[in-house]
Amino acid sequence: MENLIKKAAEQLAKAKSVVALTGAGVSVESGIPPFRGKGGLWEKIDPMEFAHIDSFMRDPAKVWNILIREMKDIVDKAKPNDAHNGLARLEELGILRTVITQNVDGLHQMAGNTDVIEFHGNFAWQKCLDCNKKTETFRISLDEIPPKCECGGILRPDCVFFGEIINPQHLLRSRKAAYECDIMLVVGTSALVQPAAYIPVTAKESGAVVIEINPESTPLTGSISDYIIKGNAGKVMKAIVSEVERIK
Ligand code: NAD
Ligand code: ZN
Repeated sequence: MENLIKKAAEQLAKAKSVVALTGAGVSVESGIPPFRGKGGLWEKIDPMEFAHIDSFMRDPAKVWNILIREMKDIVDKAKPNDAHNGLARLEELGILRTVITQNVDGLHQMAGNTDVIEFHGNFAWQKCLDCNKKTETFRISLDEIPPKCECGGILRPDCVFFGEIINPQHLLRSRKAAYECDIMLVVGTSALVQPAAYIPVTAKESGAVVIEINPESTPLTGSISDYIIKGNAGKVMKAIVSEVERIK
Protein backbone atom coordinates (compact mmCIF):
# COMPACT_ATOMS: atom_id res chain seq x y z
CA MET A 1 0.00 0.00 0.00
CA GLU A 2 2.87 2.42 0.84
CA ASN A 3 4.23 2.04 -2.69
CA LEU A 4 0.87 2.69 -4.30
CA ILE A 5 0.37 5.80 -2.16
CA LYS A 6 3.77 7.08 -3.32
CA LYS A 7 2.97 6.25 -6.92
CA ALA A 8 -0.40 8.04 -6.75
CA ALA A 9 1.20 11.10 -5.12
CA GLU A 10 3.87 11.28 -7.83
CA GLN A 11 1.27 11.02 -10.59
CA LEU A 12 -0.95 13.63 -8.93
CA ALA A 13 1.90 16.09 -8.41
CA LYS A 14 2.64 16.00 -12.15
CA ALA A 15 -0.97 15.95 -13.39
CA LYS A 16 -2.57 18.83 -15.26
CA SER A 17 -6.20 18.09 -14.59
CA VAL A 18 -7.49 15.77 -11.89
CA VAL A 19 -11.11 14.88 -11.31
CA ALA A 20 -12.51 12.83 -8.41
CA LEU A 21 -15.60 10.65 -8.49
CA THR A 22 -16.78 9.93 -4.98
CA GLY A 23 -19.43 7.72 -3.40
CA ALA A 24 -20.91 6.92 -0.02
CA GLY A 25 -17.56 5.43 1.16
CA VAL A 26 -15.93 8.88 1.55
CA SER A 27 -18.54 9.81 4.13
CA VAL A 28 -18.42 6.57 6.14
CA GLU A 29 -15.75 8.05 8.43
CA SER A 30 -18.11 11.00 9.03
CA GLY A 31 -20.64 8.56 10.48
CA ILE A 32 -22.92 8.29 7.42
CA PRO A 33 -23.59 4.65 6.56
CA PRO A 34 -23.23 3.60 2.91
CA PHE A 35 -25.98 1.76 1.06
CA ARG A 36 -23.99 -1.33 0.11
CA GLY A 37 -21.17 -3.14 1.84
CA LYS A 38 -20.54 -3.80 5.51
CA GLY A 39 -22.86 -1.85 7.81
CA GLY A 40 -24.74 -0.59 4.77
CA LEU A 41 -28.36 0.46 4.95
CA TRP A 42 -29.29 -2.22 2.42
CA GLU A 43 -28.56 -4.86 5.07
CA LYS A 44 -31.65 -3.53 6.87
CA ILE A 45 -33.99 -2.35 4.12
CA ASP A 46 -34.82 -3.11 0.51
CA PRO A 47 -33.68 -0.29 -1.79
CA MET A 48 -36.44 -0.70 -4.30
CA GLU A 49 -38.98 -0.54 -1.54
CA PHE A 50 -37.67 2.67 -0.02
CA ALA A 51 -35.45 4.56 -2.45
CA HIS A 52 -37.53 4.25 -5.60
CA ILE A 53 -39.61 7.22 -6.69
CA ASP A 54 -42.66 5.01 -7.20
CA SER A 55 -42.51 3.91 -3.55
CA PHE A 56 -42.21 7.51 -2.42
CA MET A 57 -45.21 8.61 -4.48
CA ARG A 58 -47.24 5.63 -3.30
CA ASP A 59 -46.52 6.16 0.39
CA PRO A 60 -44.44 9.26 1.25
CA ALA A 61 -44.95 8.80 5.00
CA LYS A 62 -43.46 5.30 4.93
CA VAL A 63 -40.34 6.43 3.05
CA TRP A 64 -39.98 9.47 5.31
CA ASN A 65 -40.26 7.29 8.43
CA ILE A 66 -37.89 4.53 7.39
CA LEU A 67 -35.28 6.24 5.22
CA ILE A 68 -35.39 10.02 5.20
CA ARG A 69 -35.97 10.75 8.88
CA GLU A 70 -32.88 8.75 9.88
CA MET A 71 -30.86 10.31 7.10
CA LYS A 72 -31.84 13.82 8.25
CA ASP A 73 -30.71 13.07 11.80
CA ILE A 74 -27.33 11.81 10.58
CA VAL A 75 -26.65 14.34 7.81
CA ASP A 76 -27.68 17.35 9.93
CA LYS A 77 -24.79 16.59 12.30
CA ALA A 78 -22.11 15.23 9.94
CA LYS A 79 -18.75 16.95 9.44
CA PRO A 80 -16.13 16.39 6.73
CA ASN A 81 -13.41 13.81 7.47
CA ASP A 82 -9.81 13.41 6.24
CA ALA A 83 -11.04 12.15 2.85
CA HIS A 84 -13.08 15.31 2.12
CA ASN A 85 -10.35 17.49 3.62
CA GLY A 86 -7.67 15.77 1.52
CA LEU A 87 -9.63 16.37 -1.69
CA ALA A 88 -10.14 20.02 -0.68
CA ARG A 89 -6.40 20.36 -0.07
CA LEU A 90 -5.69 18.90 -3.53
CA GLU A 91 -7.83 21.67 -5.01
CA GLU A 92 -5.99 24.28 -2.94
CA LEU A 93 -2.70 22.91 -4.30
CA GLY A 94 -3.99 23.49 -7.85
CA ILE A 95 -4.15 19.75 -8.62
CA LEU A 96 -7.81 18.76 -8.32
CA ARG A 97 -10.29 20.58 -10.48
CA THR A 98 -13.70 18.99 -10.06
CA VAL A 99 -15.38 16.60 -7.65
CA ILE A 100 -18.23 14.57 -9.11
CA THR A 101 -20.05 13.12 -6.15
CA GLN A 102 -22.88 10.64 -5.83
CA ASN A 103 -23.29 11.77 -2.24
CA VAL A 104 -26.04 14.08 -1.18
CA ASP A 105 -24.53 15.15 2.16
CA GLY A 106 -22.82 18.40 1.09
CA LEU A 107 -19.58 17.47 2.89
CA HIS A 108 -17.26 18.18 -0.07
CA GLN A 109 -18.44 21.79 -0.19
CA MET A 110 -18.18 22.03 3.59
CA ALA A 111 -14.56 20.86 3.34
CA GLY A 112 -13.81 23.59 0.80
CA ASN A 113 -14.06 22.11 -2.70
CA THR A 114 -15.54 24.79 -4.96
CA ASP A 115 -16.43 22.82 -8.09
CA VAL A 116 -18.66 19.96 -6.95
CA ILE A 117 -21.09 18.26 -9.30
CA GLU A 118 -23.83 16.74 -7.17
CA PHE A 119 -24.81 13.93 -9.49
CA HIS A 120 -27.64 12.69 -7.28
CA GLY A 121 -28.76 16.04 -5.94
CA ASN A 122 -28.48 17.43 -2.44
CA PHE A 123 -30.16 16.41 0.77
CA ALA A 124 -29.77 19.92 2.17
CA TRP A 125 -32.94 20.93 0.34
CA GLN A 126 -36.50 19.62 0.20
CA LYS A 127 -38.81 20.32 -2.71
CA CYS A 128 -42.60 20.67 -2.68
CA LEU A 129 -44.40 18.14 -4.86
CA ASP A 130 -47.10 20.73 -5.63
CA CYS A 131 -45.47 24.17 -6.04
CA ASN A 132 -41.78 23.14 -6.42
CA LYS A 133 -40.69 25.62 -3.75
CA LYS A 134 -37.48 24.57 -1.99
CA THR A 135 -36.97 24.57 1.78
CA GLU A 136 -33.72 23.89 3.62
CA THR A 137 -33.83 20.49 5.31
CA PHE A 138 -32.61 21.78 8.68
CA ARG A 139 -35.59 24.18 8.80
CA ILE A 140 -38.29 21.54 8.48
CA SER A 141 -40.00 20.02 11.46
CA LEU A 142 -40.58 16.30 11.68
CA ASP A 143 -43.58 16.70 13.99
CA GLU A 144 -45.76 15.90 11.02
CA ILE A 145 -44.77 13.07 8.65
CA PRO A 146 -44.56 13.58 5.73
CA PRO A 147 -43.51 17.20 6.27
CA LYS A 148 -45.41 19.79 4.26
CA CYS A 149 -44.69 23.00 2.39
CA GLU A 150 -46.48 26.25 3.33
CA CYS A 151 -48.88 25.52 0.45
CA GLY A 152 -49.82 22.15 1.97
CA GLY A 153 -47.91 20.07 -0.61
CA ILE A 154 -45.73 17.15 0.49
CA LEU A 155 -41.98 17.75 0.72
CA ARG A 156 -39.45 15.41 -0.88
CA PRO A 157 -35.64 15.51 -0.74
CA ASP A 158 -34.07 17.31 -3.69
CA CYS A 159 -32.18 14.09 -4.48
CA VAL A 160 -32.39 11.64 -7.35
CA PHE A 161 -34.41 8.58 -6.36
CA PHE A 162 -34.04 5.27 -8.21
CA GLY A 163 -36.31 5.52 -11.26
CA GLU A 164 -35.54 9.21 -11.83
CA ILE A 165 -33.24 10.77 -14.41
CA ILE A 166 -30.00 12.57 -13.66
CA ASN A 167 -30.06 16.32 -14.27
CA PRO A 168 -28.83 16.49 -17.92
CA GLN A 169 -26.61 19.46 -17.07
CA HIS A 170 -24.81 17.34 -14.45
CA LEU A 171 -24.43 14.49 -16.92
CA LEU A 172 -22.93 16.75 -19.57
CA ARG A 173 -20.53 18.48 -17.18
CA SER A 174 -19.41 15.16 -15.67
CA ARG A 175 -18.80 13.62 -19.06
CA LYS A 176 -16.76 16.67 -20.13
CA ALA A 177 -14.70 16.57 -16.92
CA ALA A 178 -14.05 12.85 -17.47
CA TYR A 179 -12.92 13.43 -21.07
CA GLU A 180 -10.58 16.24 -20.09
CA CYS A 181 -8.87 14.86 -16.99
CA ASP A 182 -5.54 13.08 -17.01
CA ILE A 183 -6.17 11.39 -13.65
CA MET A 184 -9.48 10.27 -12.19
CA LEU A 185 -9.60 9.38 -8.49
CA VAL A 186 -12.50 7.01 -7.78
CA VAL A 187 -13.05 7.13 -4.04
CA GLY A 188 -15.47 5.09 -1.94
CA THR A 189 -17.92 4.05 -4.62
CA SER A 190 -19.14 0.54 -5.28
CA ALA A 191 -19.45 1.54 -8.98
CA LEU A 192 -22.75 -0.31 -9.21
CA VAL A 193 -25.09 2.63 -9.68
CA GLN A 194 -25.51 3.77 -13.30
CA PRO A 195 -24.92 6.12 -15.00
CA ALA A 196 -22.39 7.33 -12.38
CA ALA A 197 -20.37 4.12 -12.71
CA TYR A 198 -19.79 4.89 -16.37
CA ILE A 199 -17.87 8.11 -15.64
CA PRO A 200 -14.52 6.33 -14.97
CA VAL A 201 -15.02 4.33 -18.18
CA THR A 202 -15.22 7.61 -20.10
CA ALA A 203 -12.07 8.87 -18.36
CA LYS A 204 -10.24 5.67 -19.21
CA GLU A 205 -11.37 5.79 -22.87
CA SER A 206 -9.89 9.24 -23.19
CA GLY A 207 -6.53 8.11 -21.79
CA ALA A 208 -6.74 9.07 -18.11
CA VAL A 209 -5.09 7.11 -15.33
CA VAL A 210 -7.86 5.79 -13.07
CA ILE A 211 -6.97 5.27 -9.41
CA GLU A 212 -9.43 3.67 -7.00
CA ILE A 213 -9.42 4.13 -3.24
CA ASN A 214 -11.68 1.61 -1.55
CA PRO A 215 -11.24 -1.17 1.04
CA GLU A 216 -13.07 -3.54 -1.36
CA SER A 217 -12.66 -4.36 -5.04
CA THR A 218 -15.34 -3.11 -7.42
CA PRO A 219 -16.38 -4.00 -10.99
CA LEU A 220 -13.83 -1.35 -12.13
CA THR A 221 -10.96 -3.08 -10.35
CA GLY A 222 -8.61 -4.89 -12.70
CA SER A 223 -10.45 -3.65 -15.79
CA ILE A 224 -11.05 0.09 -15.82
CA SER A 225 -8.92 1.24 -12.90
CA ASP A 226 -5.15 1.16 -13.31
CA TYR A 227 -4.80 0.20 -9.67
CA ILE A 228 -6.69 0.21 -6.38
CA ILE A 229 -5.35 1.47 -3.07
CA LYS A 230 -7.14 -0.78 -0.62
CA GLY A 231 -7.98 1.14 2.52
CA ASN A 232 -10.28 3.64 4.16
CA ALA A 233 -10.61 6.88 2.22
CA GLY A 234 -9.67 9.14 5.15
CA LYS A 235 -6.43 7.41 5.96
CA VAL A 236 -5.38 6.93 2.34
CA MET A 237 -6.21 10.49 1.23
CA LYS A 238 -4.35 11.92 4.20
CA ALA A 239 -1.25 9.89 3.35
CA ILE A 240 -1.44 10.82 -0.35
CA VAL A 241 -1.78 14.52 0.40
CA SER A 242 1.19 14.60 2.79
CA GLU A 243 3.30 12.83 0.18
CA VAL A 244 2.16 15.31 -2.53
CA GLU A 245 3.01 18.21 -0.22
CA ARG A 246 6.46 16.72 0.40
CA ILE A 247 7.36 16.33 -3.28
CA LYS A 248 5.57 19.26 -4.93
P1 NAD B 1 -22.38 2.31 -2.06
O1 NAD B 1 -23.12 2.43 -0.77
O2 NAD B 1 -22.97 1.49 -3.14
O3 NAD B 1 -20.93 1.70 -1.79
C1 NAD B 1 -20.11 2.20 -0.79
C2 NAD B 1 -18.67 1.89 -1.19
O4 NAD B 1 -17.81 2.51 -0.25
C3 NAD B 1 -18.34 0.39 -1.19
O5 NAD B 1 -17.62 0.10 -2.36
C4 NAD B 1 -17.45 0.23 0.05
O6 NAD B 1 -16.47 -0.78 -0.12
C5 NAD B 1 -16.81 1.58 0.14
N1 NAD B 1 -16.36 1.97 1.48
C6 NAD B 1 -16.88 1.63 2.69
N2 NAD B 1 -16.20 2.23 3.66
C7 NAD B 1 -15.24 2.98 3.07
C8 NAD B 1 -14.22 3.85 3.57
N3 NAD B 1 -14.06 4.10 4.86
N4 NAD B 1 -13.42 4.45 2.65
C9 NAD B 1 -13.57 4.23 1.32
N5 NAD B 1 -14.51 3.43 0.82
C10 NAD B 1 -15.34 2.82 1.68
O7 NAD B 1 -22.09 3.78 -2.49
P2 NAD B 1 -22.18 4.49 -3.90
O8 NAD B 1 -21.32 3.79 -4.87
O9 NAD B 1 -21.94 5.91 -3.60
O10 NAD B 1 -23.69 4.33 -4.40
C11 NAD B 1 -24.78 4.45 -3.55
C12 NAD B 1 -25.74 5.61 -3.73
O11 NAD B 1 -26.18 5.90 -2.42
C13 NAD B 1 -25.18 6.88 -4.22
O12 NAD B 1 -25.83 7.14 -5.37
C14 NAD B 1 -25.55 7.96 -3.19
O13 NAD B 1 -26.46 8.88 -3.77
C15 NAD B 1 -26.30 7.27 -2.13
N6 NAD B 1 -25.81 7.45 -0.74
C16 NAD B 1 -25.27 8.63 -0.36
C17 NAD B 1 -24.79 8.79 0.92
C18 NAD B 1 -24.18 10.11 1.32
O14 NAD B 1 -24.58 11.14 0.79
N7 NAD B 1 -23.19 10.11 2.22
C19 NAD B 1 -24.85 7.72 1.83
C20 NAD B 1 -25.43 6.52 1.41
C21 NAD B 1 -25.89 6.40 0.11
ZN1 ZN C 1 -45.61 24.06 -1.99
